[in-house]
Amino acid sequence: MHILVAGGAGFIGSHLCERLLKMRHRVICVDNLKTGRAANLETAKKSPLFRFLKHDIRRPFTLRADYIFHLASYASPRHYQKWSVETLMTNALGSYHLLEIARHCRAKYLFASTSEVYGDPLHHPQKESDWGNVNPVGGRACYDEAKRFAEALTMEYVRKHGLNARIIRIFNTYGPRLQPDDGRVVSNFINQALRGSCLTVYGSGRQTRSFCYVDDLVEGMTRAAFYPRTCGQVINLGNPKEFTILQAAVLVGKLVDKPLRTKHLPLPADDPQRRRPDISKARKLLGWSPEVSLRDGLRRTIAWYRVDGRGK
Ligand code: NAD
Ligand code: UDP
Repeated sequence: MHILVAGGAGFIGSHLCERLLKMRHRVICVDNLKTGRAANLETAKKSPLFRFLKHDIRRPFTLRADYIFHLASYASPRHYQKWSVETLMTNALGSYHLLEIARHCRAKYLFASTSEVYGDPLHHPQKESDWGNVNPVGGRACYDEAKRFAEALTMEYVRKHGLNARIIRIFNTYGPRLQPDDGRVVSNFINQALRGSCLTVYGSGRQTRSFCYVDDLVEGMTRAAFYPRTCGQVINLGNPKEFTILQAAVLVGKLVDKPLRTKHLPLPADDPQRRRPDISKARKLLGWSPEVSLRDGLRRTIAWYRVDGRGK
């Protein structure tokens, strides 16, 4: 198959490209390299089946593809708030351009959405049927609402044009190549612990997240793409084991083997208090559940940060 991966030079996208190449697909990665890095593609570039196109999907383009994975979007609060209008337009105009390519080529389509569509969730854990509790004009709306718009657009192409598309809602994912400067909790804590500085805990640290290792996520994503009975479906992908931010800090401290020192900073506005996926749909449809524990995943991520990620 000819597969277009938009956002393929990013953290998750680069792991996905490698997995698709292992499956012997031809992969064309389209990325503007704004938060993605050419270095993330070093392994993929060794394959004769791989091509890279530097392009911003907010501008129209044409390519032939049998399958499109749409992962292009700034994803960390630091990045999407800095480039808020770009984030909105990438998910709006960029999604439209990719959906039009899919429609013309009769390609299949997967949209990488986010647990952020649930906002500060009213139900716990979050099920795909939840509608979400999102502040439409708050500081995170440029991401949450952009993803909600892109989900709606994708479903209209399914209904109006019979497009074979599915949506995955990704919960906090981490692993090697998670950008060291993106301000997310895992990258911040590892950088800070390796430097021996205080881990910055926002608010009380009692807010929760559920952290999924990238290999598990990519396995779920490829199953969602290629398994039957996924057309028109919305599927949560994440690790259902929930941790408080303080627990995550303690674990990182232990794994780096430095005395744990924390400093509390104000909680950012609209920061969701609890987040844990209900993955019964993924289990049933895809036979998928994550296998890597937070301890093992962090160990592998820290090893990468010690060698490749530090100081970048
Ligand atoms: P990332 O920033 O590492 O990757 C995103 C990639 O998209 C980057 O390579 C960036 O350069 C590219 N990009 C952004 N805007 C573009 C544009 N207009 N044109 C072309 N390329 C563009 O982030 P990531 O963590 O790998 O996230 C990948 C996808 O998964 C995103 O859509 C994100 O919303 C989603 N997601 C990630 C997480 C997570 O925890 N990492 C959680 C939920 C959803
Ligand atoms: N967080 C923190 N310290 C940091 C970075 C983040 O305590 O240095 C908190 C943040 O307030 C949030 C959680 O960790 O409650 C996850 O934040 P992240 O930015 O990684 O992802 P998201 O908020 O998008 O889930």
